Formats: sequence, C-alpha cells, structure tokens
Amino acid sequence: MPIRRLSQTLVNQIAAGEVVERPASVVKELLENAFDAGASRVEIDLEGGGRDLVRIRDDGGGISRAELPLAVAAHATSKITELSDLDAIATMGFRGEALASIASVSRLRLASRTAESDEAWVLESAGDDCSEPSPTSGPQGTTVEVRTLFFNTPARRRFLKSERAEASRVSEVVRMLGLSRPGVAIQLRSDGRTLVDLPAEDDPTRRIAAVLGLDRDSDLLQIKGEAGDASDPSSLVSVWGLVGRPEDARPTARQQRFILNGRVIADRSLSHAVREAYRGLIEPGRHPVAAVFLEIDPHRVDVNVHPAKTEVRFREARPLFSLIKRSIESALSEADLVPSISLPSDAGPANPASPVRPGHTVHGGADDSELFGRPASPATGSGRAGGGGSGGSGGSGGSRRSFAPPPGGAWDGEVDMDAIRSRLSEPAESVARADTPLPRLLGSDDVMQVHQSFLVTQDEEGLIVIDQHALHERVMFEKLKARMATGPLESQRLAVPAGLEVDPLALAAIEDLRELLVDLGIEVEATGPRSAAVHAFPSLLFERKVDPVGFMEDLLERTAAGEFETADREAALSEVLDMMSCKAAVKAGDRLTPKEIAELLDLRREIDRSSNCPHGRPTHLRIPIAELERKFGRSTS
Ligand code: ADP
Ligand code: MG
Repeated sequence: MPIRRLSQTLVNQIAAGEVVERPASVVKELLENAFDAGASRVEIDLEGGGRDLVRIRDDGGGISRAELPLAVAAHATSKITELSDLDAIATMGFRGEALASIASVSRLRLASRTAESDEAWVLESAGDDCSEPSPTSGPQGTTVEVRTLFFNTPARRRFLKSERAEASRVSEVVRMLGLSRPGVAIQLRSDGRTLVDLPAEDDPTRRIAAVLGLDRDSDLLQIKGEAGDASDPSSLVSVWGLVGRPEDARPTARQQRFILNGRVIADRSLSHAVREAYRGLIEPGRHPVAAVFLEIDPHRVDVNVHPAKTEVRFREARPLFSLIKRSIESALSEADLVPSISLPSDAGPANPASPVRPGHTVHGGADDSELFGRPASPATGSGRAGGGGSGGSGGSGGSRRSFAPPPGGAWDGEVDMDAIRSRLSEPAESVARADTPLPRLLGSDDVMQVHQSFLVTQDEEGLIVIDQHALHERVMFEKLKARMATGPLESQRLAVPAGLEVDPLALAAIEDLRELLVDLGIEVEATGPRSAAVHAFPSLLFERKVDPVGFMEDLLERTAAGEFETADREAALSEVLDMMSCKAAVKAGDRLTPKEIAELLDLRREIDRSSNCPHGRPTHLRIPIAELERKFGRSTS
C-alpha cells in the first residue's frame, strides 16, 4: 500500500481512541472545559447512560461566534501558545484535542454565548461534517450536546456497557472532579433522575465529606503540612486534606483521591504514602478514605504524560511522599481512634457487634508469667491456682479463638452461666481475688475481665471493651520497635541449641533474613539440608515464654512464601516485630491479675496507635452512653 496522509477526521478519530473511551471520559473532558471557563454551576444530563446523549451546560465565559469552529478543530486551544507554557500548566486542558476528538465520533452540538455578546451561537457537527455557526437563544455560557457516541465506529460502540454501568462511571467521574472544585455547583441527572447533586460550598470540608460518602464530616481527620526550603519558594510543597478513621476504611481505593494543583490525579507513590501512614491501623486489603490536596510549583511537575492527564510526573517524588505520610501519621496520632459501635436495633442474644472475629490469631494455653517480662514479684505472681497451661505461645498462628479451660474443670466450649452467677453472689473480697474465675471486678479501678479475654472499663463517653490480646500485642510491638531503635535486641544463648526442621526453601530464607536476625538477637544456623539450630534468642521473647523453634519455623516459612518484602528493611522489620508481639502477648483465655490489667491499661496511654493491634484490628471498642440510653428507651434520639 502506498504511503498516504490520513484525513484530519481519521487523525481525530485515532486521537479519540486515547481520550474518548466511554461517556465517562466525554464527561470528564467537558467538565474540565467548564472548570477552565470559570463556570460556577454545571449541569449534566445523560440519556441511555450517556450512550444516547451527554448534555453539559455551564455558566462560564463562553465561546465567541468567531471561535466556535476553532473550538472543535484539532490542535486548537486557548490555553497555551508556546512550548514553554507546557512547563507550568495552570488549566485542566491544554492539548486542544478533546472537542475535536469527541466531534469526530459523535453528533455534536456546541452552543455558546460570551458575556460581550447579546446573542448565542450554535454549531453542529457529525463525523467530518461541520455546520457554520448560526444564531440561537440562550444565557451566557456553553452547552455541549454529544449524541450517539461512536455512531460511526460501531466496533467501539459495542464495547460500551449497560446504561446503568455507564451512568455509574459517569457519576464516579463527576464526584471525583467535584472534589477538586468545591466552589462549583455540579448536578448530574440520568434520564431525569438526579445521581449527583453537589451544591457550591465555601468550606471544602463539606464537599469532601459529601463526595467521600461520609455524612458526618466529623468522621474525617484534617491533615496539614509543608515541606521544602524556605529560601527557595519554588521548592515549597504543601498538603492539606481530610482522611478517614481506620474503621471507615473501604474495600477499594476509590474513596482515596489526590488533587494536585486542582487536578485529580492517580499516583502509585502517593497511594503508597497513605498506605504506609495507616500501617497497622487497617487490616490488609482495606483502603483508607482520603482526599489529599497538594500544592506544588507547576514547574516541578509534568502533566503532559498521558492524554487523559490523570497521571503526572514529579521532578522529585520523595519529599511529597514523606510529607503526606508524616501529615497523616500526625493527624492519626492526635486523634482518639477508638471506634464507637452502635447497637443494631434487632440485636438478639448473639450480638453481631461482638468483636470476636474468626481467624483472630490467639492461642489457648494460659500463660501465668508476668506481663512485661519482669521477674515474678509476690504481689502479682503468687496465689495463682494452677490451671493455666505451660507457655503455650508457640502454637500455630491463625488458630481460631479458643478459651483456656477453667481451673479444675472440663471445658465444653460453653460459658457456664450458673457458675458465673454463683460466683457473683459470693462476698466481695472473694470476687476481687486474683484467681477468681470470670467475670472479675477489680475494685476501685472499675475494670472487669470477662471471659478471660476482654477487659471492660469506661471513659467519659461510655463503656469501653478491650481485647486484651490485641492491646497487649500493640504494646509489645511498640515496645519492641522503640527498643530496636537503640540497637540490636538483647539475646540469651541457649544451653542446648534448639533444632528445627523446615523445607530447603525455608532454610534458604535464613540468608535473606541474615541482617534482620542479627538485629533481633537471633542466632540460627543451618545444620543440614532440612534442619537448623537456634543458638540465641531475644531475652524479651524468652521472658514471655515464646518457643524459639515454633517462632523460627513460622518466620522462615513465611519468608520463603514471600510474605515479607525482605528487601524493604522497614517493612520486613515491622512484619517480624508483628509476629513477635503476637506470640509474646497475653492470649485470650489468660487470666490477668489486677496489677497486670492496671499495667496494661497504663501502658496504652504511653504508646502510639493503641486503638489497633499491629494487624490493624481494633483493640478497643466504645459503646457510647447515648447509645445505651437509646437502646434502653431512656432517650428518644
Ligand atoms: P483544551 O481544553 O485542551 O484547550 P478542548 O478541545 O477541550 O481543548 O477545547 C478547545 C477550546 O475550546 C478550549 O481551549 C476553549 O477555548 C474552548 N472551550 C471548550 N469548552 C469550553 C467551555 N465549556 N467554555 C468556554 N470555552 C470552551
Ligand atoms: Mg479541554
């Protein structure tokens, strides 16, 4: 075939392949044009999910009669004039191809009136046909109608999804862009039904809460920060935004948005910064809610990377990454993150709000040792009846929650209510004794241990239920982390090395973990193709009766399975400390002395992130008094 120049229409249709994929991309381009035109109000109507019609009306600056044909011409824009303008783009558009592309694959009607003109003008185009502007009536601003998208490219029209699916993508785009312009009122209707209604807001907080689907903006935490070199204003970057509480995390990252200089962008490193900031507060696979606004000198970012302009390239991404991470971390550390639960109105005897979750990593055997690794003192260590198992903490992770057998009795998995009742009717001193079975009242501290697993106490707002294992796990984690910051952990040599058996792959993981193991005070060495021996182990774990063999087997197997990113030291350390704290923490089923309970509760005030265990599960739940009053019919609200 000879080489030929493509017709302009074909060129536009090819360009449309990149910019116009579906009604949602049409709406994105047209809404951005309205923003660039300074609109204060935009109305969008869809028919057939946008496949039949997208109509968008704005009250912006408008297009003059003379410029109407240019607006739909390829490579025609009012937003840049020379190459250097690309270095500092201040508008949403600049490529001058959206209207031309859309016009090439639809029947387009463009009507507009500028402030200077007392007449509106309209132009119609279909594929490569374009009419001359003719007069029409209408207020200031622009109305674009896009009919029968892909009427002349049937293969692409077939790729469109159902009306409902297309409409829902449009509404996603409208909400997302709505975040970036809180001052612009935006409405989206589909076949007459309102899908999005965002009134103009002076306070961006309300827009963000509305878009992120949180009805109370008090659920959001404010973040704020700046970085850069004060002597070089162009190096300054600032961040402001609202982020959700850990409990409001969602199964997808759709409620997480970055707005850079007014443009909604997607960026993996920024998402990573958010994820890092919530490390240990959110369970894996869930995503924090966040609207993060960044201001940065436009010279330091390239927005001309992608035709849809949703990706950008930063000259230096690192400062932004740490700024976001730091700002979120500090907002989280200042907030009270204990989730409040509201009781469902049809709560039966099996309360679905019960914090007991399947798969919670807890172990059966009770551990009678002191909580925090100090030698037993008569005040806490004596007077215990037998009945706890041995150290039992080396059991496999991920076992289901089970309770230790009550002292001297067979355990049938049921709580013996009669035993509890009779215990409750005993004289008070007896109830307060350290080895009294559940529930136990702990005198003046107003704390009770129930089912040897949960601590129940109160604060100004209501009833607090604490998962003793989860809280202790977090305490251990923070202590270990703080301790690691000052150098390798103290370790203790084993009189007789402890042998372990693992498969060769797991054995090879010893090499990957080499440096980390030194820091942790663990000495382990391969002794055969499938065996290794532990020579030294952290004292702290010994004191908590963690079995070196079980621990090392778990660690090596998980490393071999690729569960730790050993190349990322910080992440790997976090994972290993996580494992250590889980194994060292008191278990569900461990009876705690009043002193141990008091210590645990005191420690939670000293550490960060005590609201969640290192896996992100909550350690505390709060039932507000107001909620109880409501349930008991004491208040009408
Ligand atoms: P770009 O936005 O990249 O400049 P477009 O093809 O989207 O390219 O638009 C071409 C030009 O048409 C814009 O530069 C602008 O001058 C004009 N225009 C488009 N939409 C509007 C609108 N809603 N209001 C005013 N002018 C508009
Ligand atoms: Mg544009």
